[in-house]
Amino acid sequence: MEFVDLNAQHQSLKKELDSAIETVIKQSAFIRGPFVEEFESKYAELMGIKHCISCANGTDAIYIALRALGVELGDEVITTAHSWISTSETITQAGGRVVFCDTEDDYFCIDPEKIESHITDKTKGIVAVHLYGQAANMDAIMSIAKKHDLWVIEDCAQAHLAEYKGSKVGTIGDVGTFSFYPGKNLGAMGDAGCLITKREDIANFSTLYARHGGKNNHLIEGINSRMDGLQAAVLNVKMQKLVEWTDIRINLANYYSEQLSKISNIVIPKVRGDSKHVFHLYVVRNNNRDAIKLKLQNDGIPTIINYPRALPDYEAYAYLGNREGDFPVASKHANEILSLPMHPFLTRQEQDIVIEKIVEHST
Ligand SMILES: *Cc1c(COP(=O)(O)O)cnc(C)c1O
Repeated sequence: MEFVDLNAQHQSLKKELDSAIETVIKQSAFIRGPFVEEFESKYAELMGIKHCISCANGTDAIYIALRALGVELGDEVITTAHSWISTSETITQAGGRVVFCDTEDDYFCIDPEKIESHITDKTKGIVAVHLYGQAANMDAIMSIAKKHDLWVIEDCAQAHLAEYKGSKVGTIGDVGTFSFYPGKNLGAMGDAGCLITKREDIANFSTLYARHGGKNNHLIEGINSRMDGLQAAVLNVKMQKLVEWTDIRINLANYYSEQLSKISNIVIPKVRGDSKHVFHLYVVRNNNRDAIKLKLQNDGIPTIINYPRALPDYEAYAYLGNREGDFPVASKHANEILSLPMHPFLTRQEQDIVIEKIVEHST
């Protein structure tokens, strides 16, 4: 059993992928070019937004967004205490200061009730993450942002096609950033990423900034963060399946939840009302997590801990001087969470084995 079965995914589209890749090679369209342009216009259309700017990966997408929003040395940016480190390291790279905020017990996303206590006169923005595919509480986040004149970046690396009150995530804040790392809900065959925005100024800046500040005329100094033609061609093929794959993920999650809700000491993931959770990861909680993980591993069932520590609890953030207990929810979750196998090619039989073994090991 695989945690994410990319081979099955690629076999299911082998003809289309082979032909797309061959075409790119024939045309030597390796950097930018028609396949990348096609990707940008198709992805913008899928998201229902005006601009999509491709870049090299999801981490760069956040970094470029921060630069586009004008982060300057010493600016404070509030973000969640529970995410992949790309979310926070890019704030530092852009010259800002990371200010962590604890998460919601039920939904694993930044807790809007705790955001305001972190706001100072240096605060410039909020980076929210739709973790595991669940939309953050965007109404509350946007109203805090409006009240304090802050911008909002949505890190959608795990949340392609997720929705909050009928709006696709990434279209609510100033910018949405996506990763197409192979294992993400829409994945390339290498690194790729993009930003989406309705703001013309952000689109223009990002386009320039990601490509050395302009092609023939360097208006600003930028970076080199381009999407490869090969990756774009692969994404253009796979994008056609994204709606279907997302529906399958939701069905798989519903089945897991239906069965696992019968076990008293397993906490199943809650879905926020009025929102569409796209289950990049299906994450359960148990206070004997390490023992269950080991037993499942011995049964040949792969599980992952996303992520083993709250971000402020890593050595990388010791310099912030946060103390143990400052982020009680995120730190507690880190000790309890376990991600179960989840991908669109997971079979009912495989799910039943996972469920059976969890029942066996948790009771
Ligand atoms: C994957 C991920 C990223 C970074 O994407 P890369 O393409 O790997 O750079 C950023 N944020 C979150 C929440 C992610 O899961």
